[in-house]
This record gives sequence, C-alpha cells and structure tokens, in this order.
Amino acid sequence: MLLEVRAVAPFYKNGFVVGCERTREAVLIDPGDEVDELLGAVRDLDVEVQRVLLTHAHLDHVTGVARAKETFDIPVHLHRDDLFLYDAVVQQGEMFGFKVRPQPPIDVYYDSSPIHFGDYEVRVHHTPGHCPGGVCLQIGKTGEPATHLFVGDTLFAGSIGRTDLPGGDYHVLMRSITQVLFPLGDGCIVHPGHGPESTIGRERTTNPFVLQYLATNT
Ligand SMILES: [Zn+2]
Ligand SMILES: [Zn+2]
Repeated sequence: MLLEVRAVAPFYKNGFVVGCERTREAVLIDPGDEVDELLGAVRDLDVEVQRVLLTHAHLDHVTGVARAKETFDIPVHLHRDDLFLYDAVVQQGEMFGFKVRPQPPIDVYYDSSPIHFGDYEVRVHHTPGHCPGGVCLQIGKTGEPATHLFVGDTLFAGSIGRTDLPGGDYHVLMRSITQVLFPLGDGCIVHPGHGPESTIGRERTTNPFVLQYLATNT
C-alpha cells in the first residue's frame, strides 16, 4: 500500500494519499489546508486519484475538497449524518475566525458497500460520537485482513476525540471506540486525524481515557 501523510498549520490535521502500488490508483482522505502538499505527494507517487473520502465534516478535514475536486474532478464521499456540518463549513470557519470558501456538493453518501481502488478495498464503519457522521475507513488488500484504520478524530494516540462540538456525545464516542474499533483487532494500525499513528492494541491497553471508561462501564 502506498501511503503519504501531510499536515500544516493551523490545525495540523492529517491528510492522506493512499494508493495501490500495482495499479497506481489512489484515494485522498480528508484533504484540508494541506491539500497542496497532498497534490505534491500525488505527483511524486505518480498515482491517479479516484475519490475523496471524508472521515467527517469538521472544518479542518474538508477545506481542501474544492481544490481536490477542481484538480481531479472526482466524487466526494461523506456520511449523510455529517451533511449539516459540511453545508455549514463557511460558518464553521467564522466560528474559528477563518475565512473559508464554500465546498462543492457531496456526490456519494457512504453505505454498507465497500469502495475499491486498485487491489484495495475500503470498508466503512460508522463511528459517531465526535460528530454524528464520523466514520472509520478500514483499508487493506481485497480478500485479505485489512489492518489500516483511518479514524478521523474518533481516537488519537493516547487521547480521544472531543465531544463538546455540535452533535458530539461522549458515551456514543466511547461505544464507537470500544465496540466498533476495538473488535477490528489489536494489530490494526490507527491513523488519526491529528498526531502520530498508533495501534488498536496500544490504545486498548494504555489510552488513559479508554481505561477510565472501561473501569467504570464494564
Ligand atoms: Zn473533528
Ligand atoms: Zn480534526
């Protein structure tokens, strides 16, 4: 699997290029303010981007969608429950003091069917709690156990997503982490929306927020 990650100020939100090493087909995950760096990675990798996949629709994860769409003319995928956030991206910007351009319409809402690029398959798991339409994108070779999890702002290395923004819910978030993400397996690599990567095993056994929740809820 080809994988490049970029992040820039002010949010240091991770944007990803994920590609198939054989066919050079690829997807962009959460293009934000670092979209130009992602486009540079696309050129360096010599891949053909086929889709934009969004983990959720908070400002920092979507500000590069318009630029990606203008460059590649490809469909943009989002969970339907985050449409209210996506449609309010200009207002989200104002909330944080940033001028943000409106983004192009969503083309596809995630459903239970997997998405393919090259030899790879993306399985979409609904993981609400940080926001209503948050998803985890589980990626691996078609027909093999998929071990890469792009979790957006649901789970971080040593931390969890905030739940104080519109539509956030702490108990829903913790259920998504412990009942949707953890069963995917300790060996899965977690690629969060911010900060370094981790594994499910490490977060399950050492994440203080997870341990506190498990101590009081099981
Ligand atoms: Zn977020
Ligand atoms: Zn974020």
